[in-house]
Amino acid sequence: MNRDTPEHQCRQGRRCKARIKDDAGEFHGAGVDRPDSLCKPCEEHAFAAIRSLRSDYLMLTIARTRTSSTVSGPKVSGSGERPIPIPLPVDTLMTAIDNEATRWALRITRGDSLDPHPARQVLECLKIVCANLGTLVDLPEQVVAAYFPYPFGGDWDGRLELDGVDAVLRLASFHYRAEKILGLEQPRANWLRESCHVCGRATLVSDLGAATITCKSCQNVWDQDEFARLNNPLVAA
Ligand SMILES: [Zn+2]
Ligand SMILES: [Zn+2]
Repeated sequence: MNRDTPEHQCRQGRRCKARIKDDAGEFHGAGVDRPDSLCKPCEEHAFAAIRSLRSDYLMLTIARTRTSSTVSGPKVSGSGERPIPIPLPVDTLMTAIDNEATRWALRITRGDSLDPHPARQVLECLKIVCANLGTLVDLPEQVVAAYFPYPFGGDWDGRLELDGVDAVLRLASFHYRAEKILGLEQPRANWLRESCHVCGRATLVSDLGAATITCKSCQNVWDQDEFARLNNPLVAA
């Protein structure tokens, strides 16, 4: 392969991890040997994301339990500024991981029977997928059944043409979505009841690991001892 004028470009195009800038300042995917394939860095990045899906799924399971119990709880203290936990994206993502992992595990094993227990089945499918990533990414294009959501709820079933690279990129994208959802939800466990003494809003978050208090509204940060001193008039005097 001639590195300067590769015959094919990485399927990720401008988003390629090893993208190349041309003379006109435009980004292109790195050169690859086969058409419609991923370069090594993009493939490795996607594979690593897929290997995280098992722990993502387990964390989403916990997040779903926690958010639904928060939503159904009777008392919501503090101001209306706090974000209200929405379990819907967690559920949607878990279903998407389940569907995609099952679809490709069945194609890799050519229809071996799976664990009938739904939660264990997802994890089994993820295990099969992770053990066969090289086979998965090389699968030829095939027609699969897919559900397409209507804008106001419900969905209709149609057909999609996907190949192994599509499968890998779709599965990897679920890891990035999980990171987003889980990353957004983690601080909720540490919201404080007090209002910020600078801006007056009840948007204080304590970070137990760093022993700091941060106000999400005015962006002030205090260490926990200093925060206690500032908020206790007896000590402050
Ligand atoms: Zn690439
Ligand atoms: Zn503040």
